[in-house]
Formats: sequence, structure tokens, C-alpha cells
Amino acid sequence: MAPLRKTPLLLLTGFLGTGKTTLLRRWIREPEFHGAMVIVNELGEVGIDQQLLGAGAEQPRLLENGCACCEGAGDVASMLEDLFYDRLHRNIPDFSWVLLETTGLADPGPILDLLAESELVRERYDVAGIVTTFDARSGLQQVEAYPEILRQLQSASLVLLTRCDVAAERDVAAARQLIERVNPFAPILHSAGANVAAQDLLAVLPDFGGRLSISGPAQHTRDVTTAFLALPDSLSMAALRSALTQAAQMQRGELLRVKGVVRLIGQDAAHVVQVTAVGDVQIEPADFGTGAAPFGLTLILKGAPAQAMAETLASNLSFRGLKRLGAGSESSPLTPI
Ligand SMILES: [Zn+2]
Repeated sequence: MAPLRKTPLLLLTGFLGTGKTTLLRRWIREPEFHGAMVIVNELGEVGIDQQLLGAGAEQPRLLENGCACCEGAGDVASMLEDLFYDRLHRNIPDFSWVLLETTGLADPGPILDLLAESELVRERYDVAGIVTTFDARSGLQQVEAYPEILRQLQSASLVLLTRCDVAAERDVAAARQLIERVNPFAPILHSAGANVAAQDLLAVLPDFGGRLSISGPAQHTRDVTTAFLALPDSLSMAALRSALTQAAQMQRGELLRVKGVVRLIGQDAAHVVQVTAVGDVQIEPADFGTGAAPFGLTLILKGAPAQAMAETLASNLSFRGLKRLGAGSESSPLTPI
């Protein structure tokens, strides 16, 4: 009897805003990951990463019900089981890889534990590795406040040091030192503007065999909340930029991420908005179809209610003459085990 064909599964992890989605977008367009099944797990109820990744072949799957390492425990294994049967019954095209992008706060250990509990997942999938992104510019400050970053580095089979193009040389060197101390076995690749090709990644990805027990209970930041601010109407680019810059300054140290899709006055293309924890505001045209996009922003905060920031942002925008701003949904606290 021929041995079972196992599908390799790559876990892509890394803190909020460290460039996971940008790298993944690149890789799924390259031959090595052609036809890969992409599973995205994000904080907040609006799947912006899923949209960002969209334009490929098979629509990425969105893993809902919260963070896969704690809140949505079990969902990731059942999704892999469903995908296996869907492929077997030819309801979906064949896939040669599974690429799983975790939330920025995820501890990879408990996710692997969950996968190992499913007999079908053990038989049919093979964990090929854990790739962790670490931001060369802001990672060193963030690591002190967020223990999950250390867990993500400890679990890594390979670390991608991102934003090396905008980080100072001494920060890149200090980041390397930290990574080497925390995880001396993981090769480190430098990424500048997501310039690491899938081929380069796979060339240095170590064999993952036998490293499945790395966990313990999920180590996870508490008191993180998310809120979605619906922005159905067109906004002024200048007003949006200044409201976001102001909000990011007010929430210094508490704002983890703002991410979303908006419409701008006088612009045909929808725009992707991102604000990182260090307060960089990026507003760029979306290069994907946004027919059914829920226009608005997902806010992720630690230690302060995201809903309050959504309300402040909404009122700052309406002071600037914009009307009918959606009130947004309830703040949803992330309550890990
Ligand atoms: Zn989690």
C-alpha cells in the first residue's frame, strides 16, 4: 500500500503589524505555494486580511470565533478536517500546502497541541514549520510588554526579521541578538519590503520533525479589546489621516493596531488603512475588489477599551464635517484561558 500523502502545513505567526499578511500575499502568488490553502485567523470580526489576500485562486478561509490558541480552541482542527473531506469529495480544488496565519497575539504551542489531538489531522497533515515575523524597528520595545512575542520566537523554526529597510542598523543587530538568545536554533532571514521569496524561505526552513511538544498553557496578553467602526460614507483623506494620527498619539502604548478598508472622496479605488503600534498611518489604494467589503476600521487596544477609541475617532471625524458615521459594534474583549 502506498504511504498516505500528507499535506504540509506552515504556521505563520508574529506580533500585530509585523508584516505577516504582506509576506503571505507575496508567497501565494509564487510557484512554491501555488494553489495553497490559506487559513487566516484575526482579531476583530471583520476579515480584512482575508480581503487583502483575496485576489488569488481559492478564497482564503477565515477562522472565526476568536484567537485559535485560546478563544477559538478546536476550530482550527475541525477546519483542517473539513478541508480534507471537501478535497476528497472534490468540492474544492486540490491543495498542496496549508498556510495558516495566526492572530498577532497567538501562542503557537497550544495551536500545535490542538492539531495533534485530531487523529485525522495527524494522519493527513504534516507541520512543516513555524515561521515567526519580528519587526526590526519596534519588536524590541514590544517584547517587554507582550510575552507572546517571546513565545512566538521560542516556537519558531525560522524567524523573519521584517522592516530591515526602515530600521536603524543597531536595532537590526539588537533584534538579531535577542532572537539568537531566545532561540539559537532558528535561522534568521532579513526582510526589507517583504522581499523574501517563498523559494528562499523553503531553502532554509529546517526539518520540523519531532518538535511537536513545545507548549504548556497559552501565554497570552489579557485585557485586549477590539471594536469595529463602520465608515460607510466617503471620507476626506486629510481628515482621516489627521484623526488617526491624533488618536494614535492619544492612545500611545495602548493602541496595537488599526486596520480596515475605506472609501475616500474623489477616489474610485477603495483604500486600505493601517496604523501600527508605533503610530505609523498608512493609507493606500486597495489592489483588490471590494464589492462586498464592510467599509470601516477594526481597532485593537490593550489596557483601554477599543470601543471608546472608536467613539472618539467617530466624533473627531464628524467634527470635520463628515456625517452619518456608523456607531460600530460592541467592544469584544479577548479572554484567553
Ligand atoms: Zn490566543
